[in-house]
Amino acid sequence: MKLPFFLAKRFVAGESFEAAVSKVRELNQKDIRVTLDFLGENVNNRTMADKMVARYVRLFDNIGAADIDSTISVKLTMLGLDIGMNYCRDNLFTLLDVARRHDQFVRIDMESSDYTQRTIELFKDAFRTYGGHVGIVLQAYLHRTREDVTELAEMGADVRMCKGAYDEPEEIALQNMNEIREAFKAHTRILLKKTACPRIATHDDKLIDWTRNYTTDHHIGMSRFEFQMLYGLRQDTMERLARNGFNTRIYVPFGTMWFPYFKRRLTERKENIWFVLSTLFKK
Ligand SMILES: Cc1cc2nc3c(=O)[nH]c(=O)nc-3n(C[C@H](O)[C@H](O)[C@H](O)COP(=O)(O)OP(=O)(O)OC[C@H]3O[C@@H](n4cnc5c(N)ncnc54)[C@H](O)[C@@H]3O)c2cc1C
Repeated sequence: MKLPFFLAKRFVAGESFEAAVSKVRELNQKDIRVTLDFLGENVNNRTMADKMVARYVRLFDNIGAADIDSTISVKLTMLGLDIGMNYCRDNLFTLLDVARRHDQFVRIDMESSDYTQRTIELFKDAFRTYGGHVGIVLQAYLHRTREDVTELAEMGADVRMCKGAYDEPEEIALQNMNEIREAFKAHTRILLKKTACPRIATHDDKLIDWTRNYTTDHHIGMSRFEFQMLYGLRQDTMERLARNGFNTRIYVPFGTMWFPYFKRRLTERKENIWFVLSTLFKK
């Protein structure tokens, strides 16, 4: 059974590119850049994965034609990671060939811990060939991120740091919010030291304020990092950061396969459930 889209519209910009593009323009007008995510995950047959690659290739054409300031974010399970590493690699490289031709950028989102190792391996492979056209995400809650961040920072990778959105057991991930915040800060310090422009992806005032204070105290200029948030969350804060001269980017998901993304947003904060319920009572 498919749920009606209006339930998700708080977090998802539309079911098509055409529906999402006006939202992207509004953000760009406020000096906020965008990364578009064509929603979907865990594609397990080649026909579907091939369609996804073609859809992403078309997205670069769409972005160019619409003349909007947006990169793209992808999940490797959508490019066939469950089918095979080599197959997924071919799909990723096809996409990156197009990205390079368009002078564009592809961010590889990080999924649950079953995929972390393979995602990092494919990223490293892609980074060797495509350099600044590809970036990755690290999750502060994973114990392994301590090592991963050091290695990726040494390589000069473009990293988005986030807390982590998937349910993971304590052998794999920190469970306590203060510990996750401290890990986030430790990893971000390494990225700020070693990489050109770390992406600070959080809605958490404690981490936003910490980043502002830490970078000021260490004379790290505003151009050396970027704040990132999700579409529909704390846009007022994002607009204020943009007005104050910070680099800002909003992750704008769109597409018909919005349910898993929507469910993650509902389960990570109870307030988000109220946002959705309130849309039921608004015209
Ligand atoms: C741009 C972006 C990309 C992401 N990519 C990935 C990815 O590839 N893989 C992955 O696993 N996860 C990803 N995430 C999700 C991330 O891992 C977290 O699950 C998510 O961001 C929630 O953590 P948080 O730090 O934003 O704030 P939370 O931990 O949800 O909240 C902490 C505090 O922040 C404040 N706050 C948060 N939200 C609000 C709000 N709406 N209104 C008012 N106050 C609020 C409150 O004070 C709250 O107590 C991404 C997040 C962003 C922003």
